[in-house]
Amino acid sequence: MFGLMMEMPLSLTGIMHHGERSHARQTIVSVTSTNARHRYTYADCFRRVRRLARVLDRLGTTTDARIATLAWNDYRHLELYYAISCSGRVCHTVNPRLFAEQIAYIINHAEDEWVFVDPQFVAALEPIGERCSKVRGYVVMTDAEHMPVTTLQNVHCYETLLAAEADDYAWPDLDERTASGLCYTSGTTGNPKGVLYSHRSSVIMAYAAALPDACALSAIDGILPIVPMFHVNAWGLPFAGVMVGAKLVFPGPKLGDPATLADLITEEGVTISAGVPTVCLPLLAHTLATQRSLQPLNRLVIGGSACPLSMMEEFRDRHQVRVIHAWGMTEMSPLGTINSQTAATVGLTGAALAEQMCSQGRALPGVELKITDEENRELAWDGKNAGALKVRGLWVCKDYYRPEGGGGARDDEGWFATGDVASIDANGFIRITDRAKDVIKSGGEWISSIDLENTAVGHPAVAEAAVIGVHHPKWQERPLLVVVRTSEAAITKDALLSWFDGKVAKWWIPDDVVFVETLPHTATGKLSKLELRKQFIDYQFPTVHDVT
Ligand code: AMP
Repeated sequence: MFGLMMEMPLSLTGIMHHGERSHARQTIVSVTSTNARHRYTYADCFRRVRRLARVLDRLGTTTDARIATLAWNDYRHLELYYAISCSGRVCHTVNPRLFAEQIAYIINHAEDEWVFVDPQFVAALEPIGERCSKVRGYVVMTDAEHMPVTTLQNVHCYETLLAAEADDYAWPDLDERTASGLCYTSGTTGNPKGVLYSHRSSVIMAYAAALPDACALSAIDGILPIVPMFHVNAWGLPFAGVMVGAKLVFPGPKLGDPATLADLITEEGVTISAGVPTVCLPLLAHTLATQRSLQPLNRLVIGGSACPLSMMEEFRDRHQVRVIHAWGMTEMSPLGTINSQTAATVGLTGAALAEQMCSQGRALPGVELKITDEENRELAWDGKNAGALKVRGLWVCKDYYRPEGGGGARDDEGWFATGDVASIDANGFIRITDRAKDVIKSGGEWISSIDLENTAVGHPAVAEAAVIGVHHPKWQERPLLVVVRTSEAAITKDALLSWFDGKVAKWWIPDDVVFVETLPHTATGKLSKLELRKQFIDYQFPTVHDVT
């Protein structure tokens, strides 16, 4: 027997209507290249979204067209998110930090019909314009006064197009399985792979992200997404934020500028923000250097790479900001696990608390986890065994978009192999120890490069650290620590190595330290171990020491 409840499709259109009706006067603030604080209401936003949907029709885009965006976090990008997806088309966010070759590959693979681009990224598209054969034209996200001169063909001005349209639009009734967004994984090997989100998956994840034990979002929050809107829909915040009716604060091209971020937080009433450790660290350093407060910020979601304990402690102790340590990936829309308290963890202190804070947390309801050994046997949740982390769930990728070679994303039992290695404890808290390909195998045992990096950055003289496995004649591989110092004179190799004493197992302590000016990063701001391994391909340990 079926229930007798209404079956309304889960669609972003529903979130949009709710935001416009119930939170019409809520504010959206954006930094743009021409305006230090653009400000308007949800009502203004969604009126323009209807005009924009008309623009998409007028440009002759097909009903399920992929439309690319190369843009910072701001109100025009938000308008595109809703106008493209709610009109039945697919919002394909392209990471402008990728190499031109990768951008061309992605645009061609997605067969994007139009590209909406911030003025700053127009020059990056010019060399590849001719190769993007399916692209019918470009819309520059600015007004007539600030239109750049360009060699791109068939170029329009965003504000001019919007000004010519009426305020009404007949939104289509969409099947909830309709594709809404497309994002390509940063992929360290091979070509990037497309993850095609649906209205249903995006809506359910927005509900989950807002839960009290997730980001605890509400209408009295001010949300500052530092995570870019070109990377996994800014972790779903543009949907969850509108759903709860929060104030939205977008940093635009100033996303990497800690002084602007701190200004936005204190002046615009930001209570929660989100980003990867590499952008949150400069924000923390800026507040320490300038002795400024981050009031009223009280939560900071950090994920994308492991968040060092020292960073979490400083945000807590100096700013009373709770770091919500999260793990996920493009294929998971991206939220998989979030670290929040349970009855079992409340009241922990000292080493037990530190250990707990380093966990990436528990699965959100709607996500299932398991860890397996090399024979695909499921491992116990005992907090000790580390194995391949596999997931399935309501917003996990089923298959890649038009995969090369046609391979599916899941195994025979429907699980998606994340490529991460993790342990899970009896309370369901996971601890990511490595990407499978970054694990260091020393004498047949695994060493966690993430744990070593976390320990290293706990030292005040270390600005950033990476650990890679380097060939060793006796132990197969041993850890090499590569460090960017906060101050040149501040620390020697030996002093840094002795910092590990008592903090990690003796045989985990790196065999050598190399000081460098900078570490390589991927287009999404993560350490690029692939690039680092290339840089150290000829490296040999100075002495072969005994680690038993
Ligand atoms: P991406 O799809 O580019 O967002 O990358 C996803 C990958 O980032 C995951 O598979 C993990 O390897 C890594 N990652 C994300 N969040 C965390 C975290 N909190 N701790 C450790 N690694 C993380």
